[in-house]
Amino acid sequence: MILDFAETGSDALAGRRFDVCIVGAGPAGITIARALSRDLSVLLLEAGGFELSAESQQIYQGSISGRGYYDLDTARLRYFGGTSNHWGGRCQALDAFDFEAHPYVPHSGWPIGKQDLDPYLGQAARIVDLDLVEPEPPAFRSQLDQALATGGFAHPFTFHWSPPTVFGEKFRMEIEQSANILCLLHANLTDIVLSESGSAVTDVEITGYELARTKVPVRRLVIAAGGMENPRILLNCNRQMKAGLGNQHDLVGRFFAEHFLHRCGWLVLEDDFGEAVSAAFPPGTGVRPRKLYYAANRGFALQREVLDFVVTVVPRSKFRDSNNSFSQRLRHAICAPDWLSESFDFTFDDGAPTCYDGFFIVEAEQAPNRDSRITLNGERDQFGWCRLNLDWRALPIDKRTAAVAATEFATRFAEHNLGRVRVKDWLLADDSAVPPLSDDVAASCHHMGTTRMADDPRRGVVDRNCRVHGISNLYVAGSSVFPTVGFANPTFSIVQMSLRLADHLNGG
Ligand SMILES: Cc1cc2nc3c(=O)[nH]c(=O)nc-3n(C[C@H](O)[C@H](O)[C@H](O)COP(=O)(O)OP(=O)(O)OC[C@H]3O[C@@H](n4cnc5c(N)ncnc54)[C@H](O)[C@@H]3O)c2cc1C
Repeated sequence: MILDFAETGSDALAGRRFDVCIVGAGPAGITIARALSRDLSVLLLEAGGFELSAESQQIYQGSISGRGYYDLDTARLRYFGGTSNHWGGRCQALDAFDFEAHPYVPHSGWPIGKQDLDPYLGQAARIVDLDLVEPEPPAFRSQLDQALATGGFAHPFTFHWSPPTVFGEKFRMEIEQSANILCLLHANLTDIVLSESGSAVTDVEITGYELARTKVPVRRLVIAAGGMENPRILLNCNRQMKAGLGNQHDLVGRFFAEHFLHRCGWLVLEDDFGEAVSAAFPPGTGVRPRKLYYAANRGFALQREVLDFVVTVVPRSKFRDSNNSFSQRLRHAICAPDWLSESFDFTFDDGAPTCYDGFFIVEAEQAPNRDSRITLNGERDQFGWCRLNLDWRALPIDKRTAAVAATEFATRFAEHNLGRVRVKDWLLADDSAVPPLSDDVAASCHHMGTTRMADDPRRGVVDRNCRVHGISNLYVAGSSVFPTVGFANPTFSIVQMSLRLADHLNGG
């Protein structure tokens, strides 16, 4: 059933006690609610309504220090379905490598492994309507595969795609008809009440936009409000524990991680290879050049002491200027100052001669960084909660990973005479800093790491079952629990983890 707290007020909850209360109806919250509703009664609190609204979205405003970032109220959505209302649908499970601790990456590694999430692969794929058909590789791909396999560098890789599934749309009717789920819209969680000893949650406080407030007793509470809001909730609920819930070791909000997306440089294809690529995507036929992906090999990452990454090769839609041979185009690429080669690049789609036949991207995980963090700033929202400050930071290994991936790719490409690569200057510069967000460096709106998982309470906020250390019935769901983040987009793993958490709650 779905009700609106603005209309029902506390009447909807009078005399009721739910087995599980979940905060947030995004991919994590909806997945857990559905999975639990077979056997348990669920209260699903959602701060927004069915549509985007200013009254809810403005609660996400916050400040930014450190590296700079996108406005915090544009990088996520605060209504039924959560940020899946505009996600891109690119999916991939985390790799075994991503769960391992690596000696050259401090704080890396999960207390669980890929084998713990594998049982949920099929179910998660059905939830996000994953297209599992592998596209037929273009004929020229074998040449690239061979080149990039040299030295154990990288292997061909496929991302899978969700249509993308908008969780609010897909599951609205099912939740409306569910006898065991009560989803309350416009219901903001504004406090978590603990028992006197502080070891268990007893009640939650809900507040509407008209500031009507009510308290509901809960048996178990799951916070599933997104990777930035999960720590904000724990930090703001500080009436009984001054530092916030689960924050006895000053970890809540720390280790904020993103996925870097680096546009690393341009490709000039050697004539024969260029013809082969051109033949696969003939101009004027409507066959769009497809991106080709290459994931880092485990051995290469370990040997070079870099993070996990994927290289994307992007052939341009109209290349092959028959008037310009490889060597002529190469001369342009080598000799042109940046602004001129950029302008060649820009005029490309207008059919003007250009030296570049495509470009390449490196997407990489970000190393865990204690100083990259979310804190509360002094400004308060209408419910009296402090807003967020994001101080996003990167480490030298983040820059080194991009530089090693880019130069290694360029070397393999040239050695196999597929063409030449012009790597952007910042990647070759002797400077350990990742440049600020720009045309070359993007973030992916993936918010991870801020309530990290570890068996030892001094190293993590939640345990291997996503339970907050020290509080027997408080859980966190979503990518905030990822201690190490791989390069894969997070939502597929969020869904797998949510199914696993639901199994735990069902059994416990
Ligand atoms: C532009 C964009 C593109 C993306 N593309 C991809 C992609 O291609 N692949 C991918 O894997 N990921 C992608 N993502 C990330 C993806 O959207 C998130 O990983 C996913 O939505 C996280 O799910 P969640 O349920 O943890 O959090 P959210 O989706 O953020 O849901 C949290 C829910 O909690 C509610 N809430 C918050 N605070 C409260 C409160 N106090 N009380 C009650 N309710 C509350 C919110 O209203 C919201 O409904 C993209 C994100 C963006 C912004």
